[in-house]
Amino acid sequence: MLDILVIAPHPDDAELGAAGAILKFKAEGAKVGVLDLTSGEPTPFGTLEKRAAETAAATEILGLDWRQNLGLPNRSLEATLEARQALATVIRQTRPKWLFAPYWVDAHPDHVAATQLVEAARFWSKLSKTEMPGEPWHPARIFYYYCVHLKHAAQPAFVLDISEHWDRKLAAIRCYHSQFIEGRSTEPPTFLDQLRDEAAFWGKAIGTRYGEPYASREPLGMASLKSLI
Ligand SMILES: [Zn+2]
Repeated sequence: MLDILVIAPHPDDAELGAAGAILKFKAEGAKVGVLDLTSGEPTPFGTLEKRAAETAAATEILGLDWRQNLGLPNRSLEATLEARQALATVIRQTRPKWLFAPYWVDAHPDHVAATQLVEAARFWSKLSKTEMPGEPWHPARIFYYYCVHLKHAAQPAFVLDISEHWDRKLAAIRCYHSQFIEGRSTEPPTFLDQLRDEAAFWGKAIGTRYGEPYASREPLGMASLKSLI
């Protein structure tokens, strides 16, 4: 049903870390979904209603084929057996070829738990002789996007050229007014300025205007060198 499933601890993490890839996949005709694990609330300037409206607006801009919220507890997300089963069931139902998960090193415990949960659920989703509904399914790859709560110097496995999609990525992020605009300093560099600078840094690293970095625990096999920049 889906080609790509991006799994996010909170609504806005998929936008921050992987909106460029999402827009690129959509432009190529792939079916792309986002599963937010928690509501992301409470936050200082957000409410459940506001955050849901912001998520809906960003979903529209990204042109997602599918988006749901697994309803796990925000701020106390844990990779429990129950959560693993719930996520593995979604993977069996949506049958994505690839998964996208948050990078595995992070100061935010929800993000670390999300990575562990995705990896465990990916394994569980292929099990036979289980009580989980749906047929066994194993996404071939997990790529890790960066939405890290650390001053982290990433060493990505590859960088995606997102120059054509940067404006739309920023528009999707701007939908989260309660998270990235309200209550933030308006002195440059603003939070959004810093995001642009970071995307420009990764673009410069690969000789394009904007880039989006990704990590992988496994080596990446290449069928050809043609798509290298
Ligand atoms: Zn988050």
